[in-house]
Amino acid sequence: MPLILINADILVTMDAQRREIPGGALVAQGPVIEWVGATAELPPQYRRLIDEGGAEVIDMRGKVVIPGLVNTHHHMYQSLTRAVPAAQDAELFTWLTNLYMLWSHLTPEMIGVSTRTAMAELMLSGCTTTSDHLYLYPNGSRLDDSIEAAAAMGMRFHAARGSMSVGRSKGGLPPDSVVEEEHAILEDSQRLIERYHDASRHAMLRVVVAPCSPFSVSRDLMRESALLARNYGVSMHTHLAENDNDIAYSREKFGLTPAQYAEELGWVGPDVWHAHCVKLDDEGIALFARTGTGVAHCPCSNMRLASGIAPVRTMRDAGVPVGLGVDGSASNDGAHMLGEVRQAMLLQRVGYGPAAMSAREALEIATLGGARVLGRDDIGALAPGMSADFVSFDMAQVGYAGAGHDPVAALVFCTPGNVAASVINGKVVVRDGELQTVELPRVLAQHRGLARELFERARLG
Ligand SMILES: [Zn+2]
Repeated sequence: MPLILINADILVTMDAQRREIPGGALVAQGPVIEWVGATAELPPQYRRLIDEGGAEVIDMRGKVVIPGLVNTHHHMYQSLTRAVPAAQDAELFTWLTNLYMLWSHLTPEMIGVSTRTAMAELMLSGCTTTSDHLYLYPNGSRLDDSIEAAAAMGMRFHAARGSMSVGRSKGGLPPDSVVEEEHAILEDSQRLIERYHDASRHAMLRVVVAPCSPFSVSRDLMRESALLARNYGVSMHTHLAENDNDIAYSREKFGLTPAQYAEELGWVGPDVWHAHCVKLDDEGIALFARTGTGVAHCPCSNMRLASGIAPVRTMRDAGVPVGLGVDGSASNDGAHMLGEVRQAMLLQRVGYGPAAMSAREALEIATLGGARVLGRDDIGALAPGMSADFVSFDMAQVGYAGAGHDPVAALVFCTPGNVAASVINGKVVVRDGELQTVELPRVLAQHRGLARELFERARLG
């Protein structure tokens, strides 16, 4: 049965003409959008279907509809370690050192439940496609645990097989207990690609090869990972140029800037995206623009850890593909996707003036930008042939009161609300503000128990 959405106050398409359609309507047949336009111009065959009860109809009166937001960087297991006192007021390296010991006690069940929890928060805040970068696998944990969670939630998922191989005894930052052998990392990455990666259009699941960062894996693993990814045609992801210490480490250990290091190892190209890039220099920006290398901009995390203001304005002007990421819940304790869009707009203004980023550009980065960074041309816009991923916001929420002059801009300027509805791959996953795929209170109760258990395990060592 087709899904027909009618009467949206405004339907934001992000199509080639950036149309915003008053009284908007959309028809989805299975996972694919078939028609987009004004409700008054709905073709007769669809009207007939509505009259005969042959379609699932959603009346979007009072709502603004936008393409589902795309989250390009996250560490979902960290939703178990929010606001940890020892990591509240530290910069990146100290923050990591304080948390690694705790994370070494994660279990497969914790990975599964924390991923469900993090995805629930994302879905309720407007996100329909997300990546997750899982880079430690203690106590038998596997990326399969996240993949199962995504399937249960009904979320479009780019599962990044992270890794760490250089422990403290080899001069790296993480303790030896959370690093893996490099051959085992590569074998498991290959297993995951062969088992799960779906390269087809409208795919709900793709696998990404993703060593954690230049300061936690070797040169060899970076190079081998790139070869493996390109052999299978999957994307590559890591952290890069996050703060001043990160730059100093790169210069001291490798004698190169992070961008030069990435280039030397084959980590540039349209199939690569790097998280943060707060300290990417002009040479790096030119390199990324020339090679189509993507950036996951994470404004809240960058503020939380006082890393700095990423030069997104300069990157965009140069032609660097930029998407948004909420980053892990331990460095951005609130993973609200629309909230991240707002912070992206506000933070560029702090750095580069009030005209540095408009609300609509921030929305574009969070939709089309994220899609490009993940290497997809089937999400990020609402048009025939695109995936049926969209969300609606109820403009009668108190946070939008008085913002009827420009409801689209209001979504970004006002305090972000949760979605009224969310449709992913043609399926309604949030209806009347309620998640349809899981029983959220039950998941949250499990999550609370596991967060307590994690701290208890760490206390007992
Ligand atoms: Zn991160």
